[in-house]
Amino acid sequence: MSAMTLDANDRLLTVPPRARSATDLTPDLAGHLATHGALAVPTRDDAAWTAAVWRAVSESGLLGRGGAGFPAAVKWDAVRSGGRRPMVVVNAMEGEPASAKDKVLLAYSPHLVLDGADVAAAAVGASDIVICVTDDNGPTAASVTAAVAERARAGMAHRRISVERPPGRYVSGEESALVAWLNNRRALPSLRIDKSVPLAVGRRPVLVHNAETLSQVALIARHGPEWFRRLGTPEAPGSTLVTVSGAVRSPGVLEVELGTPVGDIVRRAGLEGALSGLLLGGYGGAWLDPSHLSTPYAPGPLAAAGATMGVGIMVALPVTSCGIAETARIVRYMAGESAGQCGPCVFGLPAIADDLEQLAVGRAGADVLERIEVRAAVVDGRGGCRHPDGVVRLARTALAVFADDALAHGRGRPCAGHRAPSVLALPAATTRDRWAS
Ligand code: SF4
Repeated sequence: MSAMTLDANDRLLTVPPRARSATDLTPDLAGHLATHGALAVPTRDDAAWTAAVWRAVSESGLLGRGGAGFPAAVKWDAVRSGGRRPMVVVNAMEGEPASAKDKVLLAYSPHLVLDGADVAAAAVGASDIVICVTDDNGPTAASVTAAVAERARAGMAHRRISVERPPGRYVSGEESALVAWLNNRRALPSLRIDKSVPLAVGRRPVLVHNAETLSQVALIARHGPEWFRRLGTPEAPGSTLVTVSGAVRSPGVLEVELGTPVGDIVRRAGLEGALSGLLLGGYGGAWLDPSHLSTPYAPGPLAAAGATMGVGIMVALPVTSCGIAETARIVRYMAGESAGQCGPCVFGLPAIADDLEQLAVGRAGADVLERIEVRAAVVDGRGGCRHPDGVVRLARTALAVFADDALAHGRGRPCAGHRAPSVLALPAATTRDRWAS
């Protein structure tokens, strides 16, 4: 996927890398500084600067862009109260197969992400920044590594920065899995009862932020909270990156103002033909009925419509495809990405995938819809992490949005679309126990 034409609201993707080839992009520090200006970040504790940047991030209302939508300033508070010198982790794992926003961001604007990491580190008193990129994403790691070296040559490396390569699995970018891997354990998620207690590497508290969140921090530190709030809604200020694919002429990453109607976003990507549904959030996201295309793209309105922003994925499903078959393929993939630690996830997800696959081809039997709901209720909220909850939401919304199709398939009359090629990108099957590089 590629980045798309910029418009007046674009703030993040404004510095094209020097491209030697499609996969060999050279970051451009001079271009970054010419576009965004220099950013003065103190190298030692500076109480006045810290108070000012803390206030700016808090007043900006910035919500994390990694999926949970947690207020960034609240995360900072938790880490600072931890006592020991913290560490900042840049989460650029991007385990969602349909997402490309972090890859594009780190190709176009790696220095904006690194600026944001520097600001966050100075604000919480961290001496180390660790950037995590999956072990199967060489181009992004190369771009980030080149940007780090470029800053060192320019005398802008004030803290220890390293690039780490955890295994590329769907759940290995979940922040507790990432921190487990940094503690030399397998990259598996863990149950966190109290999320106000920060994660730790050794005994050092860790501030984990998604790459896009940090690039927004870099802009807020430069321009202030009022500027940030000029875009977006009062509850969800700013712009955000969305990866649009499916029935569109120009699949790729768009920067959009939060609150933009969902339909305007897919139309901007060149929507082609009629839609049967829109997948939002990711493979643990939700299907949205096309009657909701006027819904503002922001967490509150999407939640009211039964959907989620997740990691900013939008897949337009054409009427020629089958939503039940597409969902069955995703659920099978997601079942294979279970970390194998919790019974409801290990046994429940494959069982739901079996039912959906049989439903897709019209061989599931009349009671399949009830059976799927019974299984979903057993799985929902019972895992150590939220992986199975997302899969259950996806399955439930599929049966609601494609309700007529589901009934017809259940009666043994599958639609022609179930034989159509998959619209959704699905990676090749991964080796089940590949949790450590
Ligand atoms: S719910 Fe699934 S993915 Fe999450 S920790 Fe348990 S087994 Fe692993």
